[in-house]
Amino acid sequence: MFDLSKYTKELSKDLLQADNILLVCHINPDGDAVGSQLALYHYLISKGKNPGMISPNYLQKFLEWMDGVDKINVFIRDRKTCKDLIYKADLIIMVDFNQTNRLGEAEDYILKSKAKKVIIDHHLNSSSLADLIICDPSKCSTSELLYELISGINNGAFLNKAYSEAIYVGIITDTGNFEHGSYTGNTFRVIADLLETGIDKNSIYNLIFNNFSADRMRLQGFALNERLIILPEYHTAYIVLTREDLLRYNYNKGDTEGFVNLPLSINGVDFSALFIEKDGFIKLSFRSKGNFSVNEFAEKHFSGGGHLNAAGGEYYDSLETTIKYFLEVLKKDAWKTLNGS
Ligand code: 5GP
Ligand code: MN
Repeated sequence: MFDLSKYTKELSKDLLQADNILLVCHINPDGDAVGSQLALYHYLISKGKNPGMISPNYLQKFLEWMDGVDKINVFIRDRKTCKDLIYKADLIIMVDFNQTNRLGEAEDYILKSKAKKVIIDHHLNSSSLADLIICDPSKCSTSELLYELISGINNGAFLNKAYSEAIYVGIITDTGNFEHGSYTGNTFRVIADLLETGIDKNSIYNLIFNNFSADRMRLQGFALNERLIILPEYHTAYIVLTREDLLRYNYNKGDTEGFVNLPLSINGVDFSALFIEKDGFIKLSFRSKGNFSVNEFAEKHFSGGGHLNAAGGEYYDSLETTIKYFLEVLKKDAWKTLNGS
């Protein structure tokens, strides 16, 4: 059972004692990673702390409007600043992940640091990467968990606009604006508090979800028309996008976000995969409906992880070989579960 009050006390003590706090999100940060990082940042600033922030790589465009984003150092761009921040940190808080490879090039530096390391997360199968792991997979987002921790530390909800916006972004991105994910009654109680701070939910929705380029929209059409393969006997569908495809539609980081969810709206499809050809490896995203654990599938076959119904991983080979391997493992051990037997 997740003991919120125990973690609240421990985190509160750590925050109070630390002089140099560093907040780190995962590589290819999504709205929940950046949302929880910025929320913690705004809280700490209000308490007179001056935390540093690092993202292993660049943020996606749809998050650039968020208050405090300009204070996030990008490791692959601001190496010297990031290394200095890691070196002088006495408390490193990592949000929304639990596997060290999600630190990208910052991994070695952070692992070598003598600072106390804390993870705040909601993914399954927490690793032992940190001294204190605050992980509650029953939460829809790290942001929801963080909201509860901060409310505990603060002896009541912390009502600050930038903070509320950041938590709100984390929750709506990880649930697809309450379409999927493990949101609960508690999530809506948090949302109620957030809305009462006067945040503009409609404008946030537009900034996050109605902010696509025309190229991105056309790439989605192309992916569904030309690159979607349905395997009815395996209740599976997958989309493959080559580098050439991405170039053709002037690909920008984040453009393929959400594509993997689309095949799940097809009747009879319970498992969806997206293959994206990257430099020297293939990035995979998985989604499922029902009991098929894409988290296990990603971990077992694609060095990845995530949640029961949303996960991702990588495969270091050509697109062709990766698809072949995917079909092999699908046919070998996944399809029985997908057939409910
Ligand atoms: P997405 O498919 O949207 O990139 O990711 C879905 C979920 O899977 C997220 O919760 C994300 O944290 C997790 N995930 C995606 N890619 C990876 C990966 O390469 N490794 C791990 N451990 N988790 C991943
Ligand atoms: Mn998350």
